[in-house]
Amino acid sequence: MLIFRICLQGAYRDDNGKPVVLECVREAERRIAGNLNMEYLPMGGSVKMVEETLKLAYGENSELIKEKRIAAVQALSGTGACRLFADFQKRFCPDSQIYIPVPTWANHHNIWRDAQVPQKTYHYYHPESKGLHFAAMIDDIKNAPNGSFFLLHACAHNPTGVDPSEEQWREISHHIKAKGHFAFFDMAYQGFASGDPEKDAKAIRIFLEDGHHIGIAQSYAKNMGLYGQRVGCLSVLCEDEKQAVAVKSQLQQLARPMYSNPPVHGALIVSTILSDPDLKKQWLKEVKVMADRIIGMRTALRGNLEKLGSPLSWQHITNQIGMFCYSGLTPEQVDRLTNEFHIYMTRNGRISMAGVTTGNVEYLANAIHEVTK
Ligand code: PMP
Repeated sequence: MLIFRICLQGAYRDDNGKPVVLECVREAERRIAGNLNMEYLPMGGSVKMVEETLKLAYGENSELIKEKRIAAVQALSGTGACRLFADFQKRFCPDSQIYIPVPTWANHHNIWRDAQVPQKTYHYYHPESKGLHFAAMIDDIKNAPNGSFFLLHACAHNPTGVDPSEEQWREISHHIKAKGHFAFFDMAYQGFASGDPEKDAKAIRIFLEDGHHIGIAQSYAKNMGLYGQRVGCLSVLCEDEKQAVAVKSQLQQLARPMYSNPPVHGALIVSTILSDPDLKKQWLKEVKVMADRIIGMRTALRGNLEKLGSPLSWQHITNQIGMFCYSGLTPEQVDRLTNEFHIYMTRNGRISMAGVTTGNVEYLANAIHEVTK
């Protein structure tokens, strides 16, 4: 008898359910192997990696980069970038709070709690429509005290898979600007929403067009599959070069007593890939393959549920974006999936679509149908 055990918890898998090391990463490692030394990086990390990483977020030909207005340091992946920013916020705006969407990646709460920054929440997800609660979100932005900090997911929102449309982002940007709020973007999934990192930076580009000063946490965990390498970047857009130098220096002073300087290997992989046009092209192709596989699995899961005659609407599976599907399953239904069908996911009903494969999608649909009957 074939026994299924499906793990739907947060990392990309190929269609055989296996972890993936990208070809561009393998090639970068081959190139690095011969001339790698184990010296320390500077406190701010690899200058080359940071330079390439800023281009992804702010744009290849960004004037802001040319004008040296961005303070940026290598960070311990997306988590480390968020934490460094939270500590920076506490040190330099000690009376400020952070507005966090409901729901959000659970670790956001831990990060700002441990940095001792008080948290407020803003409306984001609308359970009935399984989409964005846009009007309530705008109200919360308008009602927050002027100059508040807002944490925004740049794309592929975790856990909901619900992103604002371009129009909605423009409106969000407008209201955040009108109130003098500071937008901090967590961009853990650049490329995973649309398959194109450039398109997935759209929200950030809108804020830049509107003249915001923003912060960004970037991570290569998902889009380069470098989960365990802990490579990412924190950047803060400043008024001018002088301020950027000062902010970078302060970020380094925060990093110094925590970990002195960040690890070298992942940074070298990233800079090797992004500074070589052929390897970068290969990476973009591989990101698209991962995103397209996930999009395909959304269609397959919804199709199978409809084929089984489920009377419920499963449209949100294909409407939502990125790695996650916020299925609407209750904690009790999730428990039944675990106990009766050996399907594992977080109890809030979040399915990592990256764990769904052509081999298990039918079994999964069947199980979901059974527990939602
Ligand atoms: N932000 C969000 C929204 C995430 O989902 C994650 C990963 N689960 C991260 C940040 C951080 O991931 P990492 O530290 O591995 O880059």
